Amino acid sequence: MSGDKPADTPADGPADSPADNGLTALLRARFESAGPMTVAEFMAEALSHPRYGYYATRDPFGLAGDFTTAPEISQMFGELIGLWCAQVWGQMGAPDPVRLVELGPGRGTLMADALRAAAVMPAFRTALRVHLVETSPVLTAAQQRTLARAGPPLAWHRALEEVPAGPMLLVANEVFDALPVRQLQRGQGGWHERLVDWDAEAGRFRLVLSQRPLIDDSLPDPAGLAPGTIIERCPAGEALAAALGARLVRDGGAALIIDYGHAASGPGETLQAVRGHAYADPLADPGKADLTAHVDFARLAEAARSAGAAIYGPAPQGPFLAALGLAMRAERLTAGATPAQAEDIRAALHRLTAPEQMGTLFKVMAMTAGRLPPPPGFADSAV
Ligand code: SAH
Repeated sequence: MSGDKPADTPADGPADSPADNGLTALLRARFESAGPMTVAEFMAEALSHPRYGYYATRDPFGLAGDFTTAPEISQMFGELIGLWCAQVWGQMGAPDPVRLVELGPGRGTLMADALRAAAVMPAFRTALRVHLVETSPVLTAAQQRTLARAGPPLAWHRALEEVPAGPMLLVANEVFDALPVRQLQRGQGGWHERLVDWDAEAGRFRLVLSQRPLIDDSLPDPAGLAPGTIIERCPAGEALAAALGARLVRDGGAALIIDYGHAASGPGETLQAVRGHAYADPLADPGKADLTAHVDFARLAEAARSAGAAIYGPAPQGPFLAALGLAMRAERLTAGATPAQAEDIRAALHRLTAPEQMGTLFKVMAMTAGRLPPPPGFADSAV
C-alpha cells in the first residue's frame, strides 16, 4: 500500500543502519550463496518475511506510522463501500448467507465502517459472514480489536483460497499495490530481468541486469522501444485477479478493487518506498519501509476477464465516490458536528476526491459474474 502521497516531512528519528537490520543480513547471506534475486523476490521478502517483513512487524498507519489510507482518512469511505455491498447484494438476489470478504484489511477500519453502514439493511446484516484475509499477525490482532463487537460472524484466513465457497462480495483497498513486481529492462538482446545484488564495497544493495535476455512471448516486442525502457509485471496480482474472477464465475458475486495505478498498461518504473510519510530508497533497509508499485488495472482486468468475469471501470476514485453520494454523506455528518469536526470532514472530502489528491490517481474497478447489472458507481456496461 502506498497510501496517500507522503508529505515532505523526514522520517522520524535516525534510521537504523543496515548493519542492524536482520533482513539485510539475511538477504545478503542469501545473495552470497545463491546470487542476485529478482526485484519481486526482494519486495516479497521486504514486505512479508515472517520475522523481519514490513507488514509482519508493525502497524504502519496513521500519523506515527508511514502512510495513511482512505479508510483511515474518513469513516465515510468505508460507509459508502458498505452501502455499495448492500446494493450489489440486492442485485445478486439477496443470497443468505453471503460472504463479505476483505483482502488486506489493515486495522479493520473499512470493515467496521462498512458493517455500521450496512445496519440500514437488517436483512443484509443478518446474511453476512465476514472473512478477513490477512498475512500479518500484528494487523490481524488490530483487526480483531477493531471488529470485536461488530456483530456478524468473523473468520480470518491467510489466503483467498481458504475462504469457504459461496456467493461473495469482496473488497480490496490498497492491497494489490503491495504485491511484488518484477522489473524488466530493454537491453541489447531484448528484455533483461532487473536483479538486486549486494555491492560489498559500498555495503548496500544495488540493481543489476540479468546477463541473458528473457525468452517470453508474452512480453511486448522490444524492437520499437528505446534501450533502457523498463516495464513492470505483477504475477501475484494477475494470479489473484484470475482466481477472483474464476471464483465469482463459480459462486456468484462481485469484487471491488481500489488502488493507485494506471488504467492502461505502459512502460515505466513505479516501485517506491515510503517511510515516515516521506519517499525513501526502495533498496535501503528492507523491511523498514513500505514498498509499493502502481497497479496495472488493464492487466488485472484481462486476467479476470479471461476467467469469465465482467469488468467495470477502472473509474477514478473521486467521481466514483461522488456517484455513491459522498457529498451528501459529508453534509449529513457536518450537520451534527463541531466547527473543528466540520473542518476535518471538509478536508477528508477534499483529500479523497480532489484530482491532485487521491481523486484521480486512485481508481476503482469492479468484477462481477452471474449476469449482474452494472454495480453502483459504474454507469456504463461491462468493458
Ligand atoms: N486495506 C487497508 C490496508 C492496506 S495496507 C487500508 O486501506 O487501510 C495493505 C494490507 O494488505 C495490509 O493489511 C497487509 O498486511 C496486507 N497484505 C499484504 N500482502 C498481502 C497478501 N499477500 N495477502 C493478504 N494481505 C496482504
